[in-house]
Amino acid sequence: MRQALIATQQAALRDRAQKLFPGGVNSPVRAFLAVGRAPLLLGRGEGAYVWDADGNRYVDLIGGWGPAILGHAHPAVVEAVRRAAFDGFALGATHPREVDLAERIRAAMPSLERLRFTSSGTEAVMAAIRLARAATGRDLVVKFGGAYHGHVDSMLVEAGSGVATLGIPGSAGVPAAIAGTTLVLPFNDVAAVDEAFARHGQEIAAVITEPVIANAGVIAPQQHFLEHLRKATRDHGALLILDEVITGFRLGPGGAQARFGIQPDLTTLGKIIGGGLPVGAYGGRAELMALVAPEGPVYQAGTLSGHPLAMAAGAATLARLAPGNYATLETRVERLAAALSAAGKAAGRDVAVARCGPLLTLFFLAELPPNGAAALRADRDLYARFFTAMLERGVLLPPSQFEAWFPGFAHGDAEIDAIATAARESLAEMAR
Ligand code: PMP
Repeated sequence: MRQALIATQQAALRDRAQKLFPGGVNSPVRAFLAVGRAPLLLGRGEGAYVWDADGNRYVDLIGGWGPAILGHAHPAVVEAVRRAAFDGFALGATHPREVDLAERIRAAMPSLERLRFTSSGTEAVMAAIRLARAATGRDLVVKFGGAYHGHVDSMLVEAGSGVATLGIPGSAGVPAAIAGTTLVLPFNDVAAVDEAFARHGQEIAAVITEPVIANAGVIAPQQHFLEHLRKATRDHGALLILDEVITGFRLGPGGAQARFGIQPDLTTLGKIIGGGLPVGAYGGRAELMALVAPEGPVYQAGTLSGHPLAMAAGAATLARLAPGNYATLETRVERLAAALSAAGKAAGRDVAVARCGPLLTLFFLAELPPNGAAALRADRDLYARFFTAMLERGVLLPPSQFEAWFPGFAHGDAEIDAIATAARESLAEMAR
């Protein structure tokens, strides 16, 4: 059912925010430009729901852009953070909570024999690339079009997420010499990978990939693509970096590497491992991590790295990620994906629903895109209309065609049904 949205408080706050922040926001996708709306100001989240600053409630599919797998403000996570706060915030020395969270991560993802916490996914990627270059003595890094690895200078070339959303090729301010150290290839294209290694095999330090691209909408790896990356890197003395900032603890407790059976050299993490507080991590083979300062020559540091509150939130979150939860979520999301496809068909629209585990995207495209360039052919105007129609029915989608939807364990059958019904109504309305 359509609802009238109240917007008075938000309008005033938005004016103030606009004067303070570029675009009125502290991260570009929050500006809602890609769906042609003023930015939403969210005041509160609980479970599968968020409330805007005027008190309108929405079923939330942004999920904090990934961390909120347990739902917002999970009581156990809130309590863990509250307790940790009484012990002081950043004490500037190693804290027992860092050891606790790291052991939990390593138990779930054994390829991280040793690791290092950072304060964001971007920092984790930046450090992993520096380490790969130091370990191999090479400079080139391969990435895939449409994948997003944070706002690291060299990784903004043909990046997904906000970069794709704004339709810009990269970023101003990145020196050509730095952009030139990145080789961008089409995802799922084995021949392109082989050609890159045939030409530059001796110069490639690493291939970095999201194992499932989740920043151009969702693009799953085709069969054996990740295995091929593993073999090609190994054959040429390059490292394989899996950027599991989104997929880690999202596709299952062991992340994409467990799901697809791929052993990376290095992994980057973020989002869920901080339970919604600022965190990142990189880790991998012990002998590689031994190159990191102070054991080795690769410098990387952070005043707030391993922050006790983030560690507490992360540990409380990881402690509640039972395999059964993932199975239930995946069954629900399968049902949602089928309902979305059926709704598209009933409305006579070309709709392709991409799903990998609990991650999904409804593309306004006739077929599932195999790579970032194909995803960019999706009809953004239709997505913008769909977004607004869903919002008016109390469902908050990511405000861009090129982002994953993030349902979590708090989305029960009732919420999944509400999303499916809203989609059916919205697509039908758009067909009129
Ligand atoms: N890698 C991936 C795959 C991501 O999705 C993101 C953020 N969306 C990052 C890295 C960067 O993380 P952060 O925003 O925490 O810097």
